[in-house]
Order: sequence, then structure tokens, then C-alpha cells
Amino acid sequence: MTSKASPDVLVLGAGPGGLAIAAALSEENLKVEVLSANDRRDPWPYTYGIWGEEVDDLGLDHLLEHRWCNTVSYFGDGSIEPKDIANQATKHGRDYGLFDKKKLQQHWLKQCDNAHVLWHRGCASSISIEQKTSTITTTEGQKIKARLIIDATGYEPIFIKSEKSRPVAVQTCYGIVGRFNLPPVEEGQFVLMDYRCDHLSLKERKEPPTFLYAMDMGDGRFFLEETSLGLAPPLTLETLKSRLNQRLNHRGLEITSLEYEELGLFLPMNKQIPYLNQPVLGFGGSAAMVHPASGYLVGGLLRRAPITAKAIAKAMHNKEANSLQISSAGWAALWPAELRRKQALYQFGLEKLMRFEEQQLRDFFTSFFSLPNSQWYGFLTNTLSVRELVKAMVTMFINAPWNVRWGLMQMEGRELSLLWEFLKPIR
Ligand SMILES: Cc1cc2nc3c(=O)[nH]c(=O)nc-3n(C[C@H](O)[C@H](O)[C@H](O)COP(=O)(O)OP(=O)(O)OC[C@H]3O[C@@H](n4cnc5c(N)ncnc54)[C@H](O)[C@@H]3O)c2cc1C
Repeated sequence: MTSKASPDVLVLGAGPGGLAIAAALSEENLKVEVLSANDRRDPWPYTYGIWGEEVDDLGLDHLLEHRWCNTVSYFGDGSIEPKDIANQATKHGRDYGLFDKKKLQQHWLKQCDNAHVLWHRGCASSISIEQKTSTITTTEGQKIKARLIIDATGYEPIFIKSEKSRPVAVQTCYGIVGRFNLPPVEEGQFVLMDYRCDHLSLKERKEPPTFLYAMDMGDGRFFLEETSLGLAPPLTLETLKSRLNQRLNHRGLEITSLEYEELGLFLPMNKQIPYLNQPVLGFGGSAAMVHPASGYLVGGLLRRAPITAKAIAKAMHNKEANSLQISSAGWAALWPAELRRKQALYQFGLEKLMRFEEQQLRDFFTSFFSLPNSQWYGFLTNTLSVRELVKAMVTMFINAPWNVRWGLMQMEGRELSLLWEFLKPIR
């Protein structure tokens, strides 16, 4: 589409966001190059979870390393006989999976390689936007021109501009993989949220709540992660580590071998949607695509990359289109009004949860997971329409106990402005 020397699109970053959009653009027969600070084949640092039905719908279940059908949460306080605990579980009745990270990476790399994507190693440091092309200069002085630049450099993007008025709510977690003297969860089980708090003193229960995310990895190995929902300021790693140890001690659990320790991961949950009228497009963490309620991104990348790539390819058919016009077409496809309205609602919900105390949170989640299965699933995967999402939220409000309703009704901080954003999506 452009001269032989310069590509249609230069993607910055080779994390899940960068690879997903580079692969989708390749499928549109665009000439794509990728510049990344790391090697594209470097192993990714996190574990990527996803609901089974999401990968089934995409025909990608072969990319999972683990899949559980015994999926539960605990929202009681835990003050019951251990033998009765199974009766206290909220059964989700849905499969949950963990991606095989290497396979997921290979899936996108293969699509890129089939389309002869060109790879560059280096750190983008400055950009110059001309009428029909943009030029990236790396810290080493290399210059790369393209019709469109996509910044997929993660949560602190290098070129994407957003309003920076909100304190960022950050989800933090401390995780371990290891073997234990007793199974910390049932054999073959996945625990989405264990909010039992009987291991905490009354004083500790007044502090920001944390929950356990846990799974049987097979062969006597378990993954346990003490997690705090989005909070500003975030909980420290030390607090999470000590909470996990308290939890284990209380249940008579000892680590007999520690295979892996995830040292303090931080995930911003309520990033603002960037300005949609800028000449550089974002994708992945840089474009605020992480789900504010769950912190998940990969399902959204897989669903939204082909739509965004199609819009870019269409805009590029017009040879006269400039960077701003092409980028704006990409932003409009990535963040249509419907998704922006839903994002405002999700962020409104997150604001509420950040204020909830431990008992309120446990009651909130009990009500949330009492919604019909398709409603809570659609909420967590961002696959409901605005109408369906509002219906789910209203149903939950009606069915919730008074302490949750009261918390939901109080309007504090940015909540009113988020509701206004829902009614009249900006940017
Ligand atoms: C603890 C944690 C757990 C998570 N769990 C899940 C989960 O279970 N499921 C899920 O779906 N999501 C999960 N996520 C969210 C999400 O999937 C990841 O954060 C994901 O890595 C974000 O992808 P990204 O490509 O946008 O950014 P990154 O993975 O951060 O990639 C950024 C890329 O940009 C490159 N780069 C940076 N600066 C430059 C530069 N100046 N020039 C060139 N290249 C540059 C980097 O080298 C890298 O290649 C989790 C996140 C965290 C933090």
C-alpha cells in the first residue's frame, strides 16, 4: 500500500497487545513491522486466565494449558467446620482455563510470520508526525517510517495521551506455585475468589479486604495468589504476603516446596480511555482495554483486534488519508460509544467496590454470583449489550441485602461524573 521501504503500520511493543494487533493487521494483508524493547519470543511474565466459553467461542481452546470444570468461590466468613466447607462454596457451573503462554504467543507469531512481518529490536523514544507518514526514532537513533503507528507499549504508553485526572486504582497480588502438606484446594478445583476471613483479627477485617485466587495445577502442585481488588493507594506486597501466610497457618497448611514466587504484580484497573482524536493508535494496556471489573485483557484482545484491524485497513484504502484520519478510524472501531458507555458503568462499579468493607464485599459478590449464569458471565467478559448490562446491575441491586444497596446508593467521589459519562460518553 505504501512505498516498499515503509510499512503501512508500525506496532510498538511485542506483548500480548502488540502481537494481537500485528497478527490481525497481517490478516488484512497490510504491511506490518514491529519494534519492541524485548525479543518477541521472550516469555511473558504473568499467568493469563480466561473463561472456557470465551476460548471455545473463538475456537482457541487448544491454546489452554489447564482447564477446570470444578470452579467455585467462597463468600462466607469461613467460621464453620472445615468438613462443611464444600457446602458453603458458590459453584460457578462454568469452565475456567489458563492459557499456555507459549502457545498463545506462538499463535500470534505464526500469523505474523506467515505474513512476513518485519521485526526490529529497540526502544522508541520520539515521534514525528507528518502529513501522510509518521517517523519513530529509537534511543539508538534508528528511524522507522509508517503510515500509522500503533503504541502497544503497555500501561505506561510512550505516545498515547489520556486525561490524567484520576488516581489509578491498582490491583495487586502475591502468588506462589508449590507443594503443600495438605491440598489447599480440592483436587481438580479452581477457586476464583476465596473471601473467607476467619484467619484475620477484627481489627484486620476493617482493613482493605483481600481474597485468595487458587487452583490445582495437577501432579501435587498448586497455584495460590493473595489478591486485592483495585485500590488507590494499592496494598503493599508485604501485606499480601503476610495475609497469605496467615491464611495458610490458620488452615494448617505448610509449603513443602516453593517452585515459583510472583513478587508483587501491579495492574491498573481504571485507566481512562485515551483521547480518540490523536494520530497514534493504542492497543492493549495502552488503550485502557483491561476490564475494570476483572483485570482481564486477553479475551478482549482476541475479540477486538480483528475489528480494529479491519477498520484500519478500510481507512488505508483511501490513499489520501492522513495519520490522524487513519488513527481515528482505528480508535472509533476500538472504542465505539457502546463500549465507552459500558466502561463508564464498570468504572462506576469499581469505585463502589473500592469503598466497600469486608462484609459488604462478601455480600456484594454473593448477590452478584446469584445472578443468572449468563448475566454474571457476560458482565465479567464484557460481552453484554449496554441494555443487558444495565438489566444485570438493576437485578443485582434489587436482590442485594440492605448493606450492599445502601453502599450502592451513596454517591461519592467520581461516581456521579462516571454516571454522566455513561449517559453521554465523552472523548
Ligand atoms: C498480575 C497481572 C495478572 C494478570 N492476569 C491476567 C489474566 O489472568 N488474564 C488476562 O486476560 N489478563 C491478565 N492481565 C492483564 C494483561 O493481560 C497483561 O497486563 C498484559 O501483559 C498487557 O499486555 P500489553 O501487550 O498491553 O503490555 P505489555 O505486556 O506490558 O507489553 C508491552 C510491550 O511493549 C514493549 N515496550 C515498552 N516500551 C517500549 C518502547 N519504548 N519501545 C518499544 N517497545 C517498548 C515491551 O518490551 C513489551 O514488549 C494481568 C496483568 C497483571 C499485571
